[in-house]
Amino acid sequence: MSHSEELFEQAQKYIPGGVNSPVRAFRGVGGTPVFFKHAEGAYLYDEDNKRYIDFIGSWGPMILGHSDPRIKAALHAQVDLGVGYGAPTAIETDMAKKVCELVPSIEMVRMVNSGTEATMSAIRLARGYTGRDKIVKFEGCYHGHVDSLLVKAGSGALTLGEPNSPGIPASLAEHTITLDFNDIDGVRETFKKIGDQIAAIIVEPVAGNMNCIPPVPGFLEGLREVCDEHGTVLIFDEVMTGFRVSLGGAQGFYGITPDLTALGKVIGGGLPVGAFGGKREIMEHISPLGPVYQAGTLSGNPLAMAAGLTSLNAISEPGFHDRLTEKTNKVRDGFKAAADEAGIPLAVQSAGAMFGFFFTDAPSVARFDQVMECDVERFKKFFQGMLAEGVYLAPSAFEASFVCDALSDDDIEFTLAAARKVMATL
Ligand code: PMP
Repeated sequence: MSHSEELFEQAQKYIPGGVNSPVRAFRGVGGTPVFFKHAEGAYLYDEDNKRYIDFIGSWGPMILGHSDPRIKAALHAQVDLGVGYGAPTAIETDMAKKVCELVPSIEMVRMVNSGTEATMSAIRLARGYTGRDKIVKFEGCYHGHVDSLLVKAGSGALTLGEPNSPGIPASLAEHTITLDFNDIDGVRETFKKIGDQIAAIIVEPVAGNMNCIPPVPGFLEGLREVCDEHGTVLIFDEVMTGFRVSLGGAQGFYGITPDLTALGKVIGGGLPVGAFGGKREIMEHISPLGPVYQAGTLSGNPLAMAAGLTSLNAISEPGFHDRLTEKTNKVRDGFKAAADEAGIPLAVQSAGAMFGFFFTDAPSVARFDQVMECDVERFKKFFQGMLAEGVYLAPSAFEASFVCDALSDDDIEFTLAAARKVMATL
């Protein structure tokens, strides 16, 4: 029995499913989840000291790589000063200023503790600001486990086959309208009928919770137009894409300006941080300035701010995202070449430093129904094969993969050699 198997057995006695977040349980791929002991750069080390090249990066935050010395130093320094005061600190303003500089659509920003809190707060704010109840989301997009947003959601909800969760009152879910990602005509039709009742459209500008689906040309532009025509708040959920697709996020990459943005993952440098921000006029509706309530005991915690700000400063260095995108493209194209060599149909896609691969005959995947047609059984075999070779991919056919700056050319070659070997066995 491996250490992971022993630990998983123990964990299941006390933690539902043995995990604190469902996708970690490996239900999407079978087998025992790997328990990790430490991490350094592009590598994770399990409880048996086996090394893995990591393409999850703690689900996105570790864009620099693990145990980055700059982040460690910032954390150590803050620990010596105190781990939290529940009162204003200078570093919160430094952080807010940095976010506003990097993401120009954000004129004011509020820190929270997770991506879920960020989207939840942005939705409440949009409803409070517009005085409307209905919201539009897209099938297969995941915005955290917010009641209103856990309708036809992606990520773990999709991996476990539960895109609608029990526990959400029908009277709440009825305000959520779910439309097809990348189908602007469907959006226009809905808005023609009830546009003036819709508070917000929330969208992952690159869908990363049904694998990786970039927007088709015109989709994000169309959302912006429709929102402008109907006084609806356009919310980009950039929890995953923020600071990753480009320094200014997907909105910078595609040149579309949302009204509100939800952030998470990279913004915390590995600590629990989220944020939501946007137009000053809307953000001024948040308490204590305005009537829309939102708060947090640990929001803006100095340890989290120290890690997050250090991470944002590091990725602001010139050339960072070009380098990261180049690495991502090498992995993406290498997977495709390995599949071609083995005669396995594979579609690969990416946006900046996130990528996805689909076992499908289709040349590309743009819609949720196409995602559902992919060969999940083949993905599982590929995942398990790569894991055995020491490459840690997301344990679900419905998650995007991430590349970190610490990933070297040798690591990429190691990964692609493993991919060639495993593809040949499929
Ligand atoms: N939005 C998106 C796009 C996400 O990918 C996630 C998490 N994967 C969330 C929101 C929720 O973030 P958290 O898990 O930090 O609550």
